[in-house]
Amino acid sequence: MSPDVVRRKRESLLGFFSVLSFFLRMRSLQKPILFLTLLLGAHALPLEFLIATRSNASEVDKPIVSLEGTGQTFQPLKEGTLRVLLVGGGSSHDFEKFFHQADKVTLNATGTVDAIYTANAEEAATRLAEADVLVLSANHRSFGLSPFQNALNAFADSGKGVVVVHAGVWQNWAPATGFNKRFVGGGTKSHGKGVFAVNQTGKTHPLLEGVVNGFEIQDELYRPTLDAGSTLTVLAETAEDPETHQKWPSIWVVEDPKCRIACIALGHAAEAHGNPAYQRILINAVKWTSRH
Ligand SMILES: [Zn+2]
Repeated sequence: MSPDVVRRKRESLLGFFSVLSFFLRMRSLQKPILFLTLLLGAHALPLEFLIATRSNASEVDKPIVSLEGTGQTFQPLKEGTLRVLLVGGGSSHDFEKFFHQADKVTLNATGTVDAIYTANAEEAATRLAEADVLVLSANHRSFGLSPFQNALNAFADSGKGVVVVHAGVWQNWAPATGFNKRFVGGGTKSHGKGVFAVNQTGKTHPLLEGVVNGFEIQDELYRPTLDAGSTLTVLAETAEDPETHQKWPSIWVVEDPKCRIACIALGHAAEAHGNPAYQRILINAVKWTSRH
């Protein structure tokens, strides 16, 4: 509450009691006017309190409500089929169109993947227990809370595959979650956009199988800053960013003692999700992280 609001509250209280004592002295009018005074006072005080509380409430104080789920479930287990949980939802992206519909079509077209999607943190935590690979692009605040973060770490500890795509490699949640450190090896705080080439760094890796070296993509040019202390390998990077005159990591893998982790900075919208190179990398990432 600002000092100004506190002062107005105090003045209003003093005013209320002085009016009350004045009418109490006028004994003939005591009962009806006392009633009216109390009625007005009782209404005026909470109203001012509400105004003061509302004007000081910030976005951060609002309760975090998870996004709607899809109710999608995996098909019965089938030999040779990978269960992939796509998790999206949040701001600045059409998660439903690209990270759900488009990527699901890409993965299911392989004939060896059963992909489902959710944008609900609790549903994601539940479905993770049945999945082989998580493809995470969500940036909604609900995914930064412990129900999802705990399920994610347990999933990774059990040796399952983790693929972090585009909005997922952003610096979305508090460092205390440990998410960026373990699953990204850093984070992204800015981006450019346009058509740019993605060049391989010379490493041979299953993630790059069938991917044309130097393919072009129309996309957001993410500028991930990777921690010097993390054990990771950058497999491909952007051509020089015209704004920063730097090359930025596009595809990398983070070493983890328990699981395989692949990060793909590409994938803002239709042009990227429809790009055959992006699709190939996504399929490769799912297969490699699942150890299949
Ligand atoms: Zn984006």
